[in-house]
Amino acid sequence: MTASEFDLIQRYFSDLGSRRDDVLLGIGDDAALLQPMAGEVLALCVDTLVGGVHFPQDAPADTVGHKALAVNLSDLAAMGARPAWATLSLTIPAADEDWIAAFSRGFGDLARYHGMALVGGDVTRGSLSITVQAAGFVPRGKALTRRGARPGDAICVSGTLGDAALGLQLWQHGRGDLDQETRWLAGRLHRPTPRVSLGLALRDCATAAIDISDGLAQDLGHVLRASGVGAQLDVDRLPVSTAAVRYATGDERLRHFLSGGDDYELCFTVARSCLHKLDAIASRVGVQITRVGTIQPGVGLDLVHTDRSPARLDLPGYIHFGDRGDRG
Ligand code: ADP
Ligand code: MG
Repeated sequence: MTASEFDLIQRYFSDLGSRRDDVLLGIGDDAALLQPMAGEVLALCVDTLVGGVHFPQDAPADTVGHKALAVNLSDLAAMGARPAWATLSLTIPAADEDWIAAFSRGFGDLARYHGMALVGGDVTRGSLSITVQAAGFVPRGKALTRRGARPGDAICVSGTLGDAALGLQLWQHGRGDLDQETRWLAGRLHRPTPRVSLGLALRDCATAAIDISDGLAQDLGHVLRASGVGAQLDVDRLPVSTAAVRYATGDERLRHFLSGGDDYELCFTVARSCLHKLDAIASRVGVQITRVGTIQPGVGLDLVHTDRSPARLDLPGYIHFGDRGDRG
């Protein structure tokens, strides 16, 4: 590493996030030394964001830093894990200090908010790409997985669906800054809020959980396959924001809410006996929770309307994916 790269790390990454007692040795040596908590298991995940693929190249640098960590925090949230440590591998075309400073601010603010320490990383030259690894803790036996959904369980989602995909469309057409609603949708794309406290609150309540990164239909599909069950989804109950209703129009609307990616909400299942706890959890963590369907025996996803008798809706490619291999 050159002297200037060393300076960059010192200046922008050496003291990012929270100080933690379980970091025995952080940034500056060949590896970090970390003290895992007794009685807890480590939840470990990694995600790479490539410029122009996972975020627009012209996205503000602070939002890129935020999002690179947020997508990993979302994975930890879906496991019911409490965030602890992160590493960051940053590949950048040039040492643009303004960009790096803003990136580091976005990353650091979110890390600190969640009590997380940045304990190591790497900086290399190349096309813009960011890899973040995140580690968190969950008491043994308490982790949420994709495997526990049972027939009769309610299917719930946090927040609203399809906002980020609309934010991307607007952004790509230079319309991300028209008014309060388009700015909000763009914010849902660039600055997703990982549902960490919801994940923690669901430890004693949810039977299965996943974060929604590829759209509800596909991600719920992962839960159904892992749990060996099917589901009925009431499409009239899908939680959608007023901004999204304004911009998602026409025949594609339902498909959009079912398959729009990048929302980083949680989809989870709860036993009927636990349903009464959800209102209190929602107000405690400050996140809307909506019941959108029910787990049923068998395979596949039936899309139904509230007021009509159950029938598979005509949405080719989205229904019945339980029988169709990997297709969401
Ligand atoms: P090495 O050559 O041993 O891989 P580096 O020169 O890449 O070491 O990094 C020196 C120290 O700075 C290491 O502790 C490494 O974890 C840390 N580091 C490097 N880049 C980053 C970064 N982007 N964010 C956080 N820590 C970093
Ligand atoms: Mg290195």
